[in-house]
Amino acid sequence: MSRNPSRVFMVVCGLLLALCGVPAAAALELDVPARVARGDAFLVTARTDTAADALAFRWRGKTHTVPVMLLDGVRTAWLLLPVPVDAKEQTLSLSVGLAGDKKVSRTVQAAVALYDRERPVQRLTVERKYVNPPANEQARIAEDRRKVRAVISRYTPERYWTLPLLRPVPGGVSSLFGMKRVFNGQPRSVHRGLDLRGAAGTPIRAAADGVIALVDNLYFSGNTVYINHGLGVFTAYLHMSATDVQPGQTVRRGDVIGKVGATGRVTGPHLHLSMLVQGVSVDPLPLLEQASGTTRQP
Ligand SMILES: [Zn+2]
Repeated sequence: MSRNPSRVFMVVCGLLLALCGVPAAAALELDVPARVARGDAFLVTARTDTAADALAFRWRGKTHTVPVMLLDGVRTAWLLLPVPVDAKEQTLSLSVGLAGDKKVSRTVQAAVALYDRERPVQRLTVERKYVNPPANEQARIAEDRRKVRAVISRYTPERYWTLPLLRPVPGGVSSLFGMKRVFNGQPRSVHRGLDLRGAAGTPIRAAADGVIALVDNLYFSGNTVYINHGLGVFTAYLHMSATDVQPGQTVRRGDVIGKVGATGRVTGPHLHLSMLVQGVSVDPLPLLEQASGTTRQP
């Protein structure tokens, strides 16, 4: 996330003025980073002095409705938005308006410039069945993907997350998000998560408040928990030896949800932490506590 967010300010003449000639200025103001790395999520803060209950954020062809809350007397809405690691664009544009308002003239626009981080290649050796899965596992793998897609496509119009996210285990990073992976000499898709060191049995803690969305054993991911943090934000915890939660259960930031293990496609025990924002895999690291100067607390 950029440390120098550009402030986009625009005063929009309100409906009152148009309807009955009463001078009323309805302002909508955005804080958006000027530059975001491909593969990162970024925080958008919108402030409004309208009575709107919700704002509509339009990003990459999708509209996300976000409730307006009072923060120090200012009506504010926050949203995390993703930049896919393989985004082809050089610049993406965000527009924010009042939810349900079709008039484009009343929306505020901001441009976000994209850049790339260094994405090194990582060579790993795993059991052969995880590089070229046997034919009789294909149906299970397809079903795993369908289940995960169904979970992360849900949008809860309520925010449970706060930034920074809690580090789920104390261990350091063993593999970064976005590394190009070569398994047993064969190139595979980039690493869509962050690997954190941890001995088998180390307790894993929820990165933020949320509701347990999935607890399952998946072919590649092993024992896996997905947490819905609201407003399109999910975290996932993979390769666990044991899970301590049930779907539908509410968890608080820091609650133990399971233990580090080595289930699924792994070279040894560790925690693979995934983060999905509006359906897109993003790097959790810039949003975790102790990552230097990269987060702002909503
Ligand atoms: Zn991983």
